Amino acid sequence: MRRNGKPSLLLSPNSILANALLRSIDLLRPRVLAMRPARIEFVVGTQINGAPHLGTNLVQTAAFLLAKLARREFSTDTRVRFGALDNAPYEVVLDPETHTAYQQTYYHALGKDKIAELIENYYRAFFDSLSEATDTDYAVETYTDQQATPGFRAEFLRTLERLDDIRWWMAPSHGVIHTRIPCPVCGWAEKRADRTKLAHLDEDGATFTAVCFDHGPYEAHIDPEDDSPYLDLATLYRNLVKERALGRSTDTLHVMMKGGDWAFGCQLVDGALGALHAPPEHMPVRIFTPQVLAPTGAKLSKSLLREHGTRALPADVEPWMLDTTTWPGSTDNYVDALVWLVGELLSDPKHFFRSFTVKELGRLMTARPTEPTIRAHEMGIYKRYFDLIATGRKTTEIRVNDSSRKKIKPGSLIRFRCQGDEVLTRVTRVNRYASFEEMFDHEPVASVNPTATRDEQLANIRQIYPPEREALGVVAIGIELTDPPRPQ
Ligand SMILES: [Zn+2]
Repeated sequence: MRRNGKPSLLLSPNSILANALLRSIDLLRPRVLAMRPARIEFVVGTQINGAPHLGTNLVQTAAFLLAKLARREFSTDTRVRFGALDNAPYEVVLDPETHTAYQQTYYHALGKDKIAELIENYYRAFFDSLSEATDTDYAVETYTDQQATPGFRAEFLRTLERLDDIRWWMAPSHGVIHTRIPCPVCGWAEKRADRTKLAHLDEDGATFTAVCFDHGPYEAHIDPEDDSPYLDLATLYRNLVKERALGRSTDTLHVMMKGGDWAFGCQLVDGALGALHAPPEHMPVRIFTPQVLAPTGAKLSKSLLREHGTRALPADVEPWMLDTTTWPGSTDNYVDALVWLVGELLSDPKHFFRSFTVKELGRLMTARPTEPTIRAHEMGIYKRYFDLIATGRKTTEIRVNDSSRKKIKPGSLIRFRCQGDEVLTRVTRVNRYASFEEMFDHEPVASVNPTATRDEQLANIRQIYPPEREALGVVAIGIELTDPPRPQ
């Protein structure tokens, strides 16, 4: 039972991780305290081969919601970085003579513009809506963009120096790491890189030799200063290079958001990071999100369906769960439903660090609130200020100008929350200042708090915001109640 007497929507057993945490976001605390980052970035990678299914959108929604929670919890700026994996194989063929498998990536088959179109069609409206619902900025980066950066290439070259130390971690069954460097003429590459050899490695870079089924042998030189030739790494190796490159940042903490099935694979990446002597402060921080399971307990997977047909489709799967673009409603309506669902899962670490069958998720989704959500920026606030707002006596709210405030404009709605109570307001004006002092030179002091003097208010505010937060700048937000004021 919940405190308010309603029966709990979710029942979850305890787990090792849940037992160690009061809230899911606490998982980040040891690294946040050790690093004191200026920013936390939640990194979520997604295959873009086809319409997203529920599992994919669940990871993405969790990234945005955790970014919102982390911003509040650690008083730091946060954002989401979406990695579109356009190196997924688009087509695989066999060389008729050697029977070597060759593959072409989505990027090579479709080209940059078509990839951008895929991202626009499947994700843009969804991310824009999530960004608005959680006041969280996001950036999109393709794997193709990422592999072309000097940081990624330099990191890759460093791993080549230690190839013997990592190859059994990256390929425990045969010790052969697959580095695909597509033919510069046609863009096809050997799937298992059988004839791709590292010919030379020195401080100027690495030279590979490979063989195209159509254009014969070719040489490719990888140099951090040059964004070509294309470098297509197998999944584990790509993650090793990516996590190692991101781990070097001293001001941004990168949090890898991964579907729960990744937990099994990550020990191989960790083994390789250890073999490369990655220092503890560079080790990746990862959050594994709930898996969506078929009744058999297997991950709900579109490839399983492709291979076994609709026979493999569990009776409980609703069409939108496999292709979320078929959701019977608007994008905002879908996002509001997902934000509600993931918010419920995040209400207790026992609910978040576990998996869910499609049937259980279907049950939860039908239990969601039916009244439409009014989209509003959300702000937590102390009780004494909440009461002043609800009774109409506080008409200016003061915040530091972090990224989540940038979207607040006259006419925006702000929902203030305090101890399970909430009040909805409309923004009448927005003014930005360099400091709290400057703000009080221009804003009516009594509109911020009618019960305290300027000096008392300054002292209170500075207890809440340390100097490094005030350095972001100050935003004064004029507010009016959308409903009549409550009695005093
Ligand atoms: Zn070729």
